[in-house]
Amino acid sequence: MAEKTQHEKLVIIGSGPAGLTAAIYAARAAIPPLVVEGLSRGGPPGGQLVATTDVENYPGFPKGVLGPDLMKLFRDQAERFGTRFAMGDVEKVNLSQRPFTLHAQTVEGELTITADALIIATGAVAKWLGLPSEKKLAGYGVSACATCDGFFFRGQHVLVVGGGDTAMEEATYLTKHAAKVTLIHRRDELRASAIMQKRARDNAKIEWMLSHEIVEIIGEAGHGGVKGAKVKNLKTGEVTTIDCQGVFVAIGHQPNTDLFKGVLDMDENGYLVLPNRKDAQTATKIPGVFAAGDVADHVYRQAVSAAGSGCMAAIDASRFLSH
Ligand code: NAP
Repeated sequence: MAEKTQHEKLVIIGSGPAGLTAAIYAARAAIPPLVVEGLSRGGPPGGQLVATTDVENYPGFPKGVLGPDLMKLFRDQAERFGTRFAMGDVEKVNLSQRPFTLHAQTVEGELTITADALIIATGAVAKWLGLPSEKKLAGYGVSACATCDGFFFRGQHVLVVGGGDTAMEEATYLTKHAAKVTLIHRRDELRASAIMQKRARDNAKIEWMLSHEIVEIIGEAGHGGVKGAKVKNLKTGEVTTIDCQGVFVAIGHQPNTDLFKGVLDMDENGYLVLPNRKDAQTATKIPGVFAAGDVADHVYRQAVSAAGSGCMAAIDASRFLSH
């Protein structure tokens, strides 16, 4: 396949809400960027929202919107102002000198890009259990985001898997909507912090199945959705079937930061750490390199907060380029 080199003022890696909002703002500031969309997870570009169904909490859509439709709107808006797209993955970066150099594998062949500024919006992915039934029912009762999907389970019984802070938080949050939440964790001890454990343990709507794991989720993709789950007691080996309408997998997230290991600062879970400059909150420690969205945010992880930080990154990058 063809090998190509091109120079860009601004490159954005990632095409979720953060990357595409950054593209809209940069393009309207007369810096039409190149967005490298990201294909590594095998699915279409557009970040985590393309794998969801109804999005009911994105402002401006009172009737809700489908995740892939929302991302198509973001993309169209970015394109309207002159954003260009490369469909593929950045596989190597050199940020030690300017212009920065990025090597991407695209559907059209190898692409080497030199760039005056870079916005990293590579996002994060939820970790999954790896069960075929979980994959089949993702978006049909199986979710990795209680804030996004909890509302759909009003008055129902849902399972939450995990023993860390995310699982405690998701279980506690889900009790606002669900009639009952059963927390399933593979060990007797929880990994979660004492305060988060206590909050969950004090909640009468949460039941506990420790030393258990889900071996199969039962249900039909489509309107039927989740009907139950087969759960194994890891001490006795006994498998029981539980009736439930939702399964929330809360075993952590993995930020997509492998490309920047040893180059940019990260916390112990791999999230980019920003120096928190007052004048450019999305700046990394390397001048001209900015980060937006879930790749630098393990706290909020919402489409709208990612979009907000994408806007900030574009403004920061445009100020950097004009100096
Ligand atoms: P985590 O601390 O790594 O916990 C993941 C949990 O999932 C662990 O209990 C682990 O079990 C379980 N797990 C992992 N893989 C599994 C599998 N394949 N099958 C079944 N269970 C599995 O992740 P996290 O809860 O997302 O937290 C990540 C970081 O964010 C932590 O530093 C946490 O404190 C922070 N956080 C903070 C807040 C808050 O303060 N509000 C909220 C969320 C997260 P084992 O324990 O057996 O390994």
